[in-house]
Amino acid sequence: MMENLGEAMMEIRRRQRMRPRMPTELVGFWKGEDLLDGKPVRSNTIVFRTKGCYWAQKGGCTMCGYTYDAAVTPPTADDLIAQYRSVENSIDGKVVKLFTSGSFLDKGEVPEKARDEILSSLSKKASKVIVETRPEFVTDKALEEAKKYVERLEVAIGLETSSDKIRIECINKNFLFMDFVKASETAKRHGVTTKAYLLLKPPFIDEKDALDDMVKSVLDAAPYAGTISINLCNVQRGTIVDELFRKKAYRPPWLWTIVEIIRRVHGKTGAIIMSDPLAAGSPRGPHNCYRCDHAFADAIRKYSITQDVSVFDGLGCECRLTWEKVLELEAWTFGAPLLY
Ligand code: SF4
Ligand SMILES: [Zn+2]
Repeated sequence: MMENLGEAMMEIRRRQRMRPRMPTELVGFWKGEDLLDGKPVRSNTIVFRTKGCYWAQKGGCTMCGYTYDAAVTPPTADDLIAQYRSVENSIDGKVVKLFTSGSFLDKGEVPEKARDEILSSLSKKASKVIVETRPEFVTDKALEEAKKYVERLEVAIGLETSSDKIRIECINKNFLFMDFVKASETAKRHGVTTKAYLLLKPPFIDEKDALDDMVKSVLDAAPYAGTISINLCNVQRGTIVDELFRKKAYRPPWLWTIVEIIRRVHGKTGAIIMSDPLAAGSPRGPHNCYRCDHAFADAIRKYSITQDVSVFDGLGCECRLTWEKVLELEAWTFGAPLLY
């Protein structure tokens, strides 16, 4: 469809208007639940406003609208520390996740002074800290420095899929499965664990290929990641996925699909399998027929926190037959969705 996904993304990004924000203003902070040593515990997520992901500035990934949260003027180390201070007293989770809509370990985004100050403070508050990062920033030096402050550290990497073809040609992620493996091995040498984020149903593939790709990706990634979180692609503004969606050429995944994936991989790996169905039940988010979406999303969240596959036993809806037809027939429409 497009010769160069990066150029197409740049073209779309140029058309977006960025809202100017204070460099001391955090993107977000919320409380949730996570698994720690097999038990559900309170978790906090902090999303810092940085200058943004360097790869997004070159176009970046086809589904990623996070870059529009970036600051127009790059925040200094002190700005980032001020962002942290704005929520410091609300932190009450045993697990704290640090997101930047980019890479926390990229010094271009989070200068060392800010990184050290934040990790040092968190070492007194949380049992485990998870930092989101692209694999190229998972280096011996970065981990040595971070481990000075945090004993239990995890790197969360957006692997998306174990298929290099899909990661490059559908997502434009610009790294290979081997890069993820190397990052995970580097992490392991430093006593740091790895979490892999996978992406169900990137653009340009049909529902059945997306399902098969996720099952394979979970099995491929599990030897390198203690936790695997499957993100269900949602339609974020200012992305190729958004352009396709508006042309009726993209539909987010069915919730039946993620349930089927979990059923197929459950018990086959030593990894914890999670999924948080963001925006479930809306046209721009993962959905079934809209009548059963709420029950499905609840069950998926419950599975993530219990790892108990029986939570899906009571789920049913007449839209299952339609979903089965979609799996069977969507490939014949050359990737265009059969139904919305
Ligand atoms: S998905 Fe991650 S790597 Fe890709 S552009 Fe967005 S923030 Fe950057
Ligand atoms: Zn339904």
